[in-house]
Amino acid sequence: MKAVLPLFVFIDACGWEIIKDRPFARDLVPNRKRLESVFGYSSACVPSILSGRWPEMHRNWCYFVYDPKNSPFRPLRALRWLPRAVTSRRRFRRWLSRFVQVRLNFRGYFDLYNIPFKHISLFDFTEKKNPLSPGGMNHGPNVFDFLEIRGIPYHVSVPTRSEKENLTAILTDIRAERIDFGLIYWPELDGLLHRVGNESPDIQPKLHQYEQWIQQIKDTACKHYEEVRLYVFSDHGMANCDELLDLKVQIEGLNARMGRDYAVVFDSTMARFWFFNEVAHDEIVACLEQVPQGRILADEELKKLRAFFPDRYFGELIFLVNEGVLIVPSHMGERPIRAMHGYHPAAKHSYAALLTNQEEIPTDVIAIPDVFKLMIRDAELAKERNEGSSAWLEAGREGSGAKTSANHSQPVHL
Ligand SMILES: [Zn+2]
Repeated sequence: MKAVLPLFVFIDACGWEIIKDRPFARDLVPNRKRLESVFGYSSACVPSILSGRWPEMHRNWCYFVYDPKNSPFRPLRALRWLPRAVTSRRRFRRWLSRFVQVRLNFRGYFDLYNIPFKHISLFDFTEKKNPLSPGGMNHGPNVFDFLEIRGIPYHVSVPTRSEKENLTAILTDIRAERIDFGLIYWPELDGLLHRVGNESPDIQPKLHQYEQWIQQIKDTACKHYEEVRLYVFSDHGMANCDELLDLKVQIEGLNARMGRDYAVVFDSTMARFWFFNEVAHDEIVACLEQVPQGRILADEELKKLRAFFPDRYFGELIFLVNEGVLIVPSHMGERPIRAMHGYHPAAKHSYAALLTNQEEIPTDVIAIPDVFKLMIRDAELAKERNEGSSAWLEAGREGSGAKTSANHSQPVHL
């Protein structure tokens, strides 16, 4: 029996609006707080949680950027001759994404999405490392670097495994008492919400399954650790998409030409532009100003959101649509989906949630990067108290040859 185990359960897209009126995990984690999210997609939110820093600092923001000099995708240009009926198919894209990921040795999540092969060599992909591992950030350290430096044994989910496999893996590590910190990552609710929307009857069974799993983890942990500090949290919520916006057709109808006068990435809720001449800039700005479903974000606002990049690496102009509007087709998808995130963090469905069995949530925990503070605090506490308890146990068992696992400082699952 060890003294304490902090467990952080990360449920992707389990936003405040999803759980606020449900009794979700009330008995397990009764203390709840609404958290502000980070402007961007999971590509921005997850690294922010894991590093305690904002996109302006860690520079993990949007996946694709205009960077022809560093583009690793040049060989894919040959595929532009393939018929669209093949190249726009999700199955083909997914297969090719896996192939490219292995060839280019990208360690994080990778998808070619719907970027046209004609223009693919203009772009670079910004998440080449896996933020769920040590050294996984574009800039600076994350929680796993901290745990390794401090010699704290931990468990973290492996994104390529299923939720159930990750559950089994952490239960094994808990039973063996070989960890002082656990981080579970479950992504399936996000996918479900994208497909069915935030009011579907399919949500409740999924939440119920998570509840049962969390209960199972807690029950197991309580047999091996005197105190289990449980945190369930998310990165953002999910808004239903009730209005589709074909921004691409509007931009492509202008005189300015993609690749010659400007470059653009159409994300699902944002369009990010880079300009090669002033005429194109003025024409596109004039066009965007006439689009009532969204607005151009001023530098001042991006600075407030802590997603302003002085080198304009992620785009010289950021156009953001209103909550509930979906840009489609976009470079992220050819067809509409029911719900999306990546709207303004102040929009109703953007807010994330933190639920815990701890009586107090510190007042300075207000946004998702602040979850990092709790992780560091609790990991330190576990290290201190588990080392203390193991020293005491060692003394009690003197001569018995028994070894505790508190000195086991290797990462258990990476
Ligand atoms: Zn998502």
